[in-house]
Amino acid sequence: MSKNRRGTLGLLAVTAIAIAVGYLVGVGIQESGTAEAAGGTVTSPTGTAPDRFVYYPGTEELAEGEIRVIACGTGMPDQRLSQASACFLMELGNGDKFIFDIGSGSMRNIASLMIPYEYLTKIFLSHLHTDHWGDLDSLWAGGWTAGRPVPLEIWGPSGMTEEMGTAYAIDHFLKANNWDRRTREYKITPIPGQITVHEFDYKGINEVIYQDNGVTVRSIPAIHTGDGPVSFILEYAGLKVVFGGDTSPNTWFIKYAQDADVVIHEAFNPPSIFATFGNQPAQLAWRACCEFHTSGPAFGKIMSTIQPRHAIAYHAQLDKGTWRYNLYYDGIRETYDGPLSIGADLMVWNITKDEIKERMAVVTPDAWSVPGTAQQPPPQPGVPDPMSDFIKSGEWGEAFNAQNDMLDEHMENYNLQDVDWRPTKPWYKSDKD
Ligand SMILES: [Zn+2]
Ligand SMILES: [Zn+2]
Repeated sequence: MSKNRRGTLGLLAVTAIAIAVGYLVGVGIQESGTAEAAGGTVTSPTGTAPDRFVYYPGTEELAEGEIRVIACGTGMPDQRLSQASACFLMELGNGDKFIFDIGSGSMRNIASLMIPYEYLTKIFLSHLHTDHWGDLDSLWAGGWTAGRPVPLEIWGPSGMTEEMGTAYAIDHFLKANNWDRRTREYKITPIPGQITVHEFDYKGINEVIYQDNGVTVRSIPAIHTGDGPVSFILEYAGLKVVFGGDTSPNTWFIKYAQDADVVIHEAFNPPSIFATFGNQPAQLAWRACCEFHTSGPAFGKIMSTIQPRHAIAYHAQLDKGTWRYNLYYDGIRETYDGPLSIGADLMVWNITKDEIKERMAVVTPDAWSVPGTAQQPPPQPGVPDPMSDFIKSGEWGEAFNAQNDMLDEHMENYNLQDVDWRPTKPWYKSDKD
């Protein structure tokens, strides 16, 4: 009997058991096999509570040979406050940081990690659905205003035709954002607005698409709604992490994700959820979950075949503690009993040869951008002014002059006398005159 046909009492019983299991998985106790309290033993009233199963961004140096993966989006195209669309950040002990997909809404999670934008420049796109690259604009422009000194670099697949490929998408992304780009180029500085695209053949099977500084990234084809989507395999320091973008179960994944330490793969909610809570017609619901995506039982079958050291499921809106969550979890467990995380936004995995540690990041919702050591260059001479004299003639000088005390102080503090922008304005009246 399928789960959604169970009687109410049976469902309640299953739910109660699964809530308990789901809770343990959620805090990582069951998978790591340790039973001590989350805060360790506090030995005095003024003591600390170590080992809390949480990660505080910016407080831990990565060891050489270590990988930290942070889920910055685990949900669906219709994002919710608790779950942005697909995005996984991988930080390596050699200093490299790679963003695998940057789906709609994920930038707020990335920003909450307080990583200087000069380090967030390498982006790998599995495919061009907006729930996998829709927040590129936020990183592009937001990083630009927050001090990134260099262009972004994007690796993404070709398509069946030129206009279905990543290079075409980014070219037209820049065209669609032309007004944004031209105005920021003039007011800030042009170089951070540039994007370098490395488009590779989506049909490449385990082909190297990136190799530098001890890191190799390969791509394999994925099967998902049209030609073009891929999955990525990252290797560093003898560790192998596989990131599946959207894909149905496919033979390339089974073959080339073998021997992986961590495998990230989509797992969709069952069709009953899409038909009821997901507002989808029934004929779409069972194809969305299970024809052009991968369902829980199919995900489980993939993982029990690959047998990674740790499996991560994502790409489903999950309501923890409810029967809907348990239905999802039980679906995976029908076919897989190995180490598993049900991905949630800001879940963190530290991966070494000895251990895979799952925690939750604790972030402030009011994070500021953090400076690195690189300096963004000042405005570049010769960039055309995108504002006409007609528009400038409407500036109301009285309000501009009302800020002069504040601006004079800023000028003194930062020695900006040579670049004071006010004297050329017709309305300028210095308080010092
Ligand atoms: Zn997709
Ligand atoms: Zn997707």
